[in-house]
Amino acid sequence: MNAIASREPMMARPSLLPEPGLSIIVPMYNEAGGLASLHARIEEVARVLKAKRGLACEVVYVDDGSRDATLSIARTLPADLMDVQVISLSRNFGKEAALHAGLDHARRGALLFMDGDGQHPPTLVETLVGHWLDDGFDVVYTAKANRENESLPRRMGGKAFYALINWRARQKIPEDAGDFRLLSPRAAAALRQLPERNRFFKGLASWIGFRQKRVDYEPAEREHGQTSWNLSTLIGLSIEGLTSFSVAPLRFASLLGFLLAVSALLFGAWMLIEAFVFRTSVPGYPSLIVGLMVIGGMQLLMIGVMGEYIGKILSEIKARPTYFVAEHDVKLASQSAATPAAQAPNP
Ligand code: UDP
Ligand code: MG
Repeated sequence: MNAIASREPMMARPSLLPEPGLSIIVPMYNEAGGLASLHARIEEVARVLKAKRGLACEVVYVDDGSRDATLSIARTLPADLMDVQVISLSRNFGKEAALHAGLDHARRGALLFMDGDGQHPPTLVETLVGHWLDDGFDVVYTAKANRENESLPRRMGGKAFYALINWRARQKIPEDAGDFRLLSPRAAAALRQLPERNRFFKGLASWIGFRQKRVDYEPAEREHGQTSWNLSTLIGLSIEGLTSFSVAPLRFASLLGFLLAVSALLFGAWMLIEAFVFRTSVPGYPSLIVGLMVIGGMQLLMIGVMGEYIGKILSEIKARPTYFVAEHDVKLASQSAATPAAQAPNP
């Protein structure tokens, strides 16, 4: 692997066509605290899948520029039962980019995405694999069984977001679905073909279609540390998702402009009638100010909405890679030692 990211998708390199089996992709940002125990739990899953189904596994840890010991701990994790890849990105690029890096580097056909904080129970993996292998589903996604513990504004924000993003969409993005999901080899191959830089993984994994299956689960508490999401990063991700998947905000702008124009026309006609038929003098100042503020505010808002889309076009045209790899270690289960060819020390 190149010292600085190679981003070309696997499909472009026939010699590297995925091997059969399952790649478990784990994005990590400051997850040193629970990493060893998570690895032990994933190893147990790999052991069970190998014994019961003959399914070979690998785990791909993507260290997204952590500031703690995540990377050094990840490098020492044993590869007794499955191959272990550790990819460290050159800085913190965000979870979506980390998932993308995992997608590009996974070497086995089927993919499973799982958070590194222990909130996605490895014990559920067997169920997800069952839906893939026994029932023939291609995308097995998980959704929070209940959201009662979330605040009302957050739940309402979520509802509004999905209503907007799914408005007149052919392929609806399921509400409550998380990033904990399994993709069959053909679904993973489809996901790899999507060229966009602005990634909204939940949306993309749903957009590709195939046979999708929902599994409800109760996320565990975070084992350590705290969530990296806050109101502003959530709003950022929502804007990312909306502008990636829907032109509803632009249509909304046109509709609003149309409504404003119609009401202004009616209002104007009414004023003319008042002046010429009823001979009353129309109070000008307050209605003028209100009208100006409404129209001014709406225009600014809609210019902002258009700006979001234009910004997205700009970043797609620049075509920068979504991440850079600083180091990449591969430990094969059979050798249980780092293969020197795969090491890419950064000078
Ligand atoms: N994460 C990441 N890069 C970031 C932020 C988060 O790779 O910049 C990882 C994080 O380590 C975890 C997963 O993404 O494995 C989910 O993050 P978090 O637990 O903060 O989100 P939540 O579960 O609260 O949605
Ligand atoms: Mg979490």
